[in-house]
Amino acid sequence: ENTIYHDDDAAHSYIEEKTVAVLGYGSQGHAHAQNLAESGVDVIVGLREGSASRSAAREDGLTVATPTEAAAAADVVSMLVPDTVQPDVYAAIESELAAGDTLQFAHGFNVHYDQIEPPEDVDVTMVAPKGPGHIVRRQYAAGEGTPGLLAVYRDATGEARQEALAYADAIGCTRAGVIETTFREETETDLFGEQAVLCGGVTELVKAGYETLTDAGYSEEMAYFECLNELKLIVDLLYEGGMSGMWDSVSDTAEYGGLTRGEVVVDDHTRKQMETVLEDVQNGEFAREWIAENQAGRPSYGQRRRAEKAHDIEDVGEELRGLFAWSEESHREKANAPAD
Ligand code: NDP
Ligand code: MG
Ligand code: MG
Repeated sequence: ENTIYHDDDAAHSYIEEKTVAVLGYGSQGHAHAQNLAESGVDVIVGLREGSASRSAAREDGLTVATPTEAAAAADVVSMLVPDTVQPDVYAAIESELAAGDTLQFAHGFNVHYDQIEPPEDVDVTMVAPKGPGHIVRRQYAAGEGTPGLLAVYRDATGEARQEALAYADAIGCTRAGVIETTFREETETDLFGEQAVLCGGVTELVKAGYETLTDAGYSEEMAYFECLNELKLIVDLLYEGGMSGMWDSVSDTAEYGGLTRGEVVVDDHTRKQMETVLEDVQNGEFAREWIAENQAGRPSYGQRRRAEKAHDIEDVGEELRGLFAWSEESHREKANAPAD
């Protein structure tokens, strides 16, 4: 079982004297930079000249420099630009990493697949909030925190874990809980989850269900509601109460039908295919493909994106969501109205 850390496990002293260079001011970058600064850590935001994010960081009261200047001044360099550009940004800052400095990540891809190979005398750590940046920022500002993952890839100083814990504390994660993992486990489970279940698995399941109904002559509107729209209700129940919470909430007919027919759809063949997807993640085949795809200017990615957007279910969905937008609005207004 993985260790879970809380506030009491973190000592602010491991980060308070240090300067952190936050490279990137997007989803994670803006949240880490502001939370660290408000926790009393010296922060310099590293952004390229002419970067659209520069004015945002300045308006938030932060010091801005180029990534190279920021890294030169820092003890901890937090790599929060998109994963696909990290190797290039790393090449520009590598010479600024001194012995005993830390290179800090929020995702393990580039280190795990050897796209970034930091020097032996530098600590390499990960603090990965399990949520998008605006939530990390909002939770911190509310005195709460977003759960996170922590990993140490290289401990050159003997203090890598304590420093990463202090960083996790300073961005609010230890308030909720921080799970210890490894770069390998974080990277491989993240890729597998998004490919087989969350992003790839769910959209293919939805499309297959929608097409089965419409091919059998049922209306596109009904197929959309039954196979896509209602997914939200089920996911909310799963999130709140796990599988038993969901099964308890649906009708007995839905429960019996689901328990007997779910495994007809997701059968041994699907499980075998999942193993293949996992193998490609583990042996680096997926990483090689994705890196080559980026180097080639994303030809196949662009094509697949366009095909996905052109699916019938998108037209039906746009129409129906437009039709029902007023009800979403009125729900929100009710939820925000002061209680009397
Ligand atoms: P974003 O896409 O939000 O990062 C955008 C920022 O990176 C902008 O400030 C942009 O500045 C800068 N940037 C983009 N390209 C370059 C470049 N070539 N050189 C310098 N700066 C550049 O990234 P995320 O916050 O989504 O991801 C950062 C890391 O966090 C990744 O490792 C990701 O896997 C991880 N992560 C992300 C989560 C999320 O929910 N988003 C959750 C957990 C981890 P400019 O204005 O110059 O373009
Ligand atoms: Mg330095
Ligand atoms: Mg992911």
